[in-house]
Amino acid sequence: MTTTNQPAFKAAGVSIKDLRKSYGTNEVLKGINLDIQPGEVVCLIGPSGSGKSTVLRCVNRLETANGGTIEVGGFETTDPEVDIDKMRQKVGMVFQQFNLFPHLTVLENCTISPVKVLKKSAAETKAKALKNLAAVGLGDFGHRYPDQLSGGQQQRVAIARALTMDPELMLFDEPTSALDPETVGDVLAIMRRLAQDGMTMLVVTHEMAFAREVADRVVFMDQGIVVEQGPAEQVIANPQQPRTQDFLKRVL
Ligand code: ADP
Ligand code: MG
Repeated sequence: MTTTNQPAFKAAGVSIKDLRKSYGTNEVLKGINLDIQPGEVVCLIGPSGSGKSTVLRCVNRLETANGGTIEVGGFETTDPEVDIDKMRQKVGMVFQQFNLFPHLTVLENCTISPVKVLKKSAAETKAKALKNLAAVGLGDFGHRYPDQLSGGQQQRVAIARALTMDPELMLFDEPTSALDPETVGDVLAIMRRLAQDGMTMLVVTHEMAFAREVADRVVFMDQGIVVEQGPAEQVIANPQQPRTQDFLKRVL
């Protein structure tokens, strides 16, 4: 990450068209349309169970959509023929539970996928991982194991790990929900910097202050549909739809 205004990444755009997903007879996504410009930061908000995680998981094919299409940087991730490893390289994901490999060091957590899956050079990947760990304030932590770190530090490793894949899009699914309050700010600061550096980001979050400050656009979902979207200031401060108003009354 840099501190200039120059984009530090090749950032992808995203185009989600009529995305549908059911679990058995439970239709949890009922035709989601969402376009994200390269470098844009979109925060996805909405009540529990509205389908936010499912949208993210369909984008990188952790779930298979039942209908519609998703394009990331010109790659159709919903295409059954798509090269999944190649596609996932473009899409970094950070989860609520950090999902680090407990038996690997911090540095190994960052290098294993680029080296084993993408067959990148070990030396180059290590250098990149160390740079990314330094950028999240953990330059000296490469030799530690995840259980020797706080939750906030583990989440920062998860971000560094995702960045070491050179993604063009970052998906965040409630990345601060499992953290102690005093470490939330560190993680949000790193996400803010990533946004400033020009990364395309789709962020599920309940941090309304973060959404208001960092998001270019806020999308409110309820019961599998996009109910309302617009600039953060508009959707959060002046929501038009009763369902958005109700939700915000409860979380703000
Ligand atoms: P959110 O992230 O907004 O809380 P989710 O996308 O996790 O919502 O879930 C949307 C709906 O899909 C919920 O009703 C949930 O119970 C259901 N769901 C999610 N994952 C599965 C699954 N693997 N199997 C069955 N139902 C699921
Ligand atoms: Mg969720």
